[in-house]
Amino acid sequence: MRRVIKIGTSTVLTKEGGLDAGRLRIIAEGVTRLMDCGDEVALVVSGAVGLGRGFLAGSGAHEAPRPALAALGQIALMQAYQAAFQPTLVAQLLMEQNHVAQPNSAIALQAALHHLWNFAMVPLVNENDALSGAGHRIGDNDTLAAMLAGLITADQLVILSDIDGLYTDNPSTNPAATRISLLPRISHEHFGQFGEGSPGPWGSGGIRSKLKAAKIAQDFGIETILASGRDDAVWGNLVDQRYDRYTRFAAQKEA
Ligand code: ADP
Repeated sequence: MRRVIKIGTSTVLTKEGGLDAGRLRIIAEGVTRLMDCGDEVALVVSGAVGLGRGFLAGSGAHEAPRPALAALGQIALMQAYQAAFQPTLVAQLLMEQNHVAQPNSAIALQAALHHLWNFAMVPLVNENDALSGAGHRIGDNDTLAAMLAGLITADQLVILSDIDGLYTDNPSTNPAATRISLLPRISHEHFGQFGEGSPGPWGSGGIRSKLKAAKIAQDFGIETILASGRDDAVWGNLVDQRYDRYTRFAAQKEA
């Protein structure tokens, strides 16, 4: 099974803005398990901007622009993933909008992923935030992950967030909100229906960007699982293809 798994900032950073090494280790073990079962996995990894911001705050410097924060944080993020995955090798791919829009770039990206999978390496994908100028950015990693899933004809998009699924309303402000287990078809009316969708303290997309990503994937005929990256059982459930504790957005072809 070919899966694109997006790991949100809130999953890998602590409340203080540092890296959660224990969580990264659990992620690495989970991904290795999936690969041992024959899966081809591409990880879309968020956290570079948050990490860069944490570094600057520590140095007493003022807030830097996003490209600088991304460039600063990206190294530490990759080092942390490499340490967690050892002895498995990880490799960095920085995507830009033209990888989605231009056929030659898309082919190059697909080829790079296949080379890495052939060597049992784990591709770590992020947007080239430092160099993608305004107006040329894909924008958020939920969208990037969905586009990548379509580009490489993945079977499944997995979005790991700080929440175990899509709720009927924002659960942090409405305790009566309940989790939706299955959304067969995402319609335009769904946007705006599930709370205002602003991101958590470290998140950049919010629930609306997850819904948008699931819609992109659905239109490609790919299912999406929205689950919590802080749930230790998520990896075993992915191996067993048990999704009842999360939200599953069905592939369009099933609808
Ligand atoms: P990430 O860092 O994983 O990208 P975000 O912080 O961007 O995560 O988005 C997830 C957050 O969106 C949740 O923690 C929750 O507080 C908020 N949220 C708002 N509306 C909803 C909803 N209807 N269902 C689930 N989460 C929601």
